[in-house]
Amino acid sequence: MRYSNTDMSTFRAVMATQVDGKTQVAFENLTIDQLPVGELLIKVAYSSLNYKDGLMVCGKPGVVRKFPMVGGIDLAGIVEESSVDNFKPGDRIVVTGSEMSEAYWGGYTQYERVQADWAVPVPDSMSLEQAMAVGTAGFTAMQSVIAMEAHGLKPGGRDVVVTGAAGGVGSVAVAILAKRGYRVVASSGRPELHDYLKSLGAVEIIGREVLSTPSKRMLEPERWAGAVDSVGGETLAGLLRTTAAHGTVALCGLAGGPVFSSTVMPFILRSVNLCGINSVRVDNPERRAIWARLEEDLPLPLLDSMTQIKPMSEIFELGAAILAGQIRGRTVIDVNA
Ligand code: NDP
Repeated sequence: MRYSNTDMSTFRAVMATQVDGKTQVAFENLTIDQLPVGELLIKVAYSSLNYKDGLMVCGKPGVVRKFPMVGGIDLAGIVEESSVDNFKPGDRIVVTGSEMSEAYWGGYTQYERVQADWAVPVPDSMSLEQAMAVGTAGFTAMQSVIAMEAHGLKPGGRDVVVTGAAGGVGSVAVAILAKRGYRVVASSGRPELHDYLKSLGAVEIIGREVLSTPSKRMLEPERWAGAVDSVGGETLAGLLRTTAAHGTVALCGLAGGPVFSSTVMPFILRSVNLCGINSVRVDNPERRAIWARLEEDLPLPLLDSMTQIKPMSEIFELGAAILAGQIRGRTVIDVNA
């Protein structure tokens, strides 16, 4: 099927360009002809706001590797044209990561072309908004839980802790773990969000400083059977010192910094597992399996309760807010508003 009704018209996208070595990010009007090649043409309905999107829209380094670049690491929408057999016009699809907004144009646009390999059908039980409420952050939270369970984590044991708990990855991780029957402890620097974290299923909340305060001790009392860490830095060092024997830390983020120092002791005396989580480079069968687990393990009323929907016209303010640690839970971006 050919793209028909807006061949000549323009649509809006958030685009980073480089002028004299300086990055500028602004709304640009594009035409379908300007989109990159790709097997699927998508009429985008929603994108989402992740920490990386904050970096991109604020023109910070570390995300965009090619200019010009359309931002937005996630998108959900309807297939308008397809050159492959496994997707047809009208299908609802979701794409997360897949180097969008890094090496390939992303979801902060009303139309986009993507490779079929990146796309997953939106689960039947979810709306397009809910698929983007999950987005990269929720996908990463699910990957983290799957990784911990692959290393032996089971409900009924010691506590599982989630760091950066009131953020996107953290909020979804708390909800999934609670639903699966774990006793979830939320680590958060925002006391005003304690009731929110309890509403997602946390049974106890600890301040950020409990894990991030440096210690001279190589090991401390064993507390955690598992941890989802979206903070990194000193917090990761604190987690490793306090994870119980055979426990697993799923490390996915660096909201508290990229550098940490630790010792070999947690690994050689407690057999602690440190699992790296990357949500960008995941093959299509694994992506589908992770979305199937999300359908099973993430209660949609809780997902809705942690989500706000915002127009793309506010993307620059929202990007600054997520970098400042001021966003609670998940933010869906309506690219048509
Ligand atoms: P959010 O901003 O939504 O959440 C981050 C949370 O971390 C904040 O809400 C806050 O939680 C906490 N935090 C913020 N600043 C600090 C600080 N200086 N020290 C300690 N804690 C802090 O971001 P996301 O959830 O989207 O992403 C979280 C991290 O995970 C980012 O580093 C992101 O790049 C990474 N990430 C990695 C992925 C991967 O594939 N590996 C995929 C997705 C995200 P609170 O207020 O509760 O303390």
